[in-house]
Amino acid sequence: MMNDEERMQLAIAEARAAEAAGEVPVGAVIVSAEGEVIARGGNRVLRSSDPTAHAEIVALRAAGVALENYRLVGCTLYCTLEPCSMCAGAILHARIARLVYAASDPKAGACGSVLSVMNHPALNHRVELVEGVLSAECGAMLTNFFRARRSFAHSANVLRGMSIRDVDGGEFSMATTKSSAKKSTTPPSRRWSAKVDTDSTHPDQGLFLKGPRTIANALATKKVSPKGPASGMRMLNFYINRAGKNLTKERIAELEKAKKILSGVIAKQKDMQAAKKSSAKKSSAKKSAVKKSAKKKSA
Ligand SMILES: [Zn+2]
Repeated sequence: MMNDEERMQLAIAEARAAEAAGEVPVGAVIVSAEGEVIARGGNRVLRSSDPTAHAEIVALRAAGVALENYRLVGCTLYCTLEPCSMCAGAILHARIARLVYAASDPKAGACGSVLSVMNHPALNHRVELVEGVLSAECGAMLTNFFRARRSFAHSANVLRGMSIRDVDGGEFSMATTKSSAKKSTTPPSRRWSAKVDTDSTHPDQGLFLKGPRTIANALATKKVSPKGPASGMRMLNFYINRAGKNLTKERIAELEKAKKILSGVIAKQKDMQAAKKSSAKKSSAKKSAVKKSAKKKSA
């Protein structure tokens, strides 16, 4: 029989599948009293236009169908993230016997992090709680996801000439200037959140509708990719993952072309940096000589 970590790996696979479809990466699986995996679910709020389609709810629904029972007596639910209050409520209604989750959610967790819906003293049903199974892996998955989304939204709005605060003041204040930090009343947070209402940070996709060379050139600029063209590549990959399903084959081919051009730019830049390092001493000597002669000429 599989142990908790092996079952959590199945939930992680669901989270990764959700991420590949452009969703916040959260996954869940449900195991019956007999130890059989009877349901799997990934977050699909965007795909289903359903605010309740958290991974846990998706898995609970599938488990109910599998057992032909709305009570999932004796079952264990594995989730990559601490359930929110909605999911915690649903888990209690389903009479799940045991809940195993990975990362805790400091913004919306309802198993003690923010609220204590799970095992609230006023409620009847008791759930055996195990937290922290593969939490580092699951936490990193979310952190990376939100980091990529932030840099993507940031660049998209730089392109449009908008301030970052126009998009999402709270979440982006950490990356912006001092003046915006002053305006912000809430302290900036570097934590990821389980919020799935991502519409407010949907980036402008205008750039990605253009030709491959235009896309690659824009992503190679400091204006769009302040941390260098490699971050531009991450944005492009992120866009392809997020919008992939809705893109035509031709469009995907164009975007792959843009990736090739951009990786060429990245390789060139690496070569140039290497060349610069090797001739740093020579060039710095030359430069100062050139500067001196230039000054003399202008004088
Ligand atoms: Zn939830």
